Amino acid sequence: MSVERINVIWLQGQGCTGDTVSIAGATYPSLTDILNGFLPQAMGITLQYHPTLMLPHGEEALKNLRAAVKGELDPFVLILEGSIPDESLAKKTGGFWCMMGEEGDKLMTFNDWLDKLAEKAAAVVAVGTCAAYGGIPHGRPNPTGARGAYQYFGKDWKSKLGIPVICIPGCPAQGDHITETLTHLVLTVRGLLPPPALDKYNRPLFIFEHLVHENCPRAGFFACGKYSKEFGEPYCMGLLGCKGPITHCDVPRRGFIDGIGGCPTIGSICIGCTEPEFPDGPFSPFFKKAPPGVFASEAVRDIIGKIYALLHRLKRRKI
Ligand code: SF4
Ligand code: SF4
Ligand code: SF4
Repeated sequence: MSVERINVIWLQGQGCTGDTVSIAGATYPSLTDILNGFLPQAMGITLQYHPTLMLPHGEEALKNLRAAVKGELDPFVLILEGSIPDESLAKKTGGFWCMMGEEGDKLMTFNDWLDKLAEKAAAVVAVGTCAAYGGIPHGRPNPTGARGAYQYFGKDWKSKLGIPVICIPGCPAQGDHITETLTHLVLTVRGLLPPPALDKYNRPLFIFEHLVHENCPRAGFFACGKYSKEFGEPYCMGLLGCKGPITHCDVPRRGFIDGIGGCPTIGSICIGCTEPEFPDGPFSPFFKKAPPGVFASEAVRDIIGKIYALLHRLKRRKI
């Protein structure tokens, strides 16, 4: 398939714009490299809609969304930032959670645009844990009924090109995670690469295959049984609440911006921000030691995670 231009539409639901800030700090490749066509195979990426970065606003901005719905911007990659609210809850009191302009005399919700655009998109990418799994708005007691694209569309939903929703979680998502995945998808849309292999939560394995614990520069101290008793000490932070042993993320190895930073690397515990249950248990309370058995096999960890998630759901019902 030969495609000159690949359009990008970036929608923001219930989020804090942290993932937009994060992509602005991407380095390998950077946003500028992508938009200026520095990478030959990824040339032609055109940002058609982004509420924070684009110059047009109001009616002029909405024109691009309408064009995409009519199929005039094919092929386009739809990127979501922020969680997807349950508008039926807001309707009960005559309100709404997330509004994006009007069509005729109808107020358009974020969900209205999402449904129309997802139908036409070559691929859908959920950037940040809010967009992927609901994230912070989805945390107990979740007043807006927030969900991520993984729950909203379902694990097995497929785009026009047969690609499932791709989740790039993180609060925020690491910038290079976003640009690498976007570049990979552009090559997929051009027929040069198969879609990225995904894990059971639709995260690309090339980023999320390994645990924070496996990528952590403090893992040697863990192996020797040396633990930090307070923040600022250089040892394993398992006793201070680090959830690295139950969290999939390569940030401690890769760094956060241009190879610098990365939670346990710089003395901050991992709070599990890339996992579907975040920010609820087993990841919170953040400063409480991770549940027992975290060093067991993946299957055992899964069972423990499910029990914790169930206990939290039961607790939520009581609120
Ligand atoms: Fe903000 Fe985190 Fe949600 Fe991204 S995932 S929109 S950074 S709260
Ligand atoms: Fe594992 Fe966290 Fe200790 Fe690093 S600091 S070795 S991720 S428990
Ligand atoms: Fe999130 Fe943990 Fe990765 Fe830091 S190391 S970005 S807290 S998952």
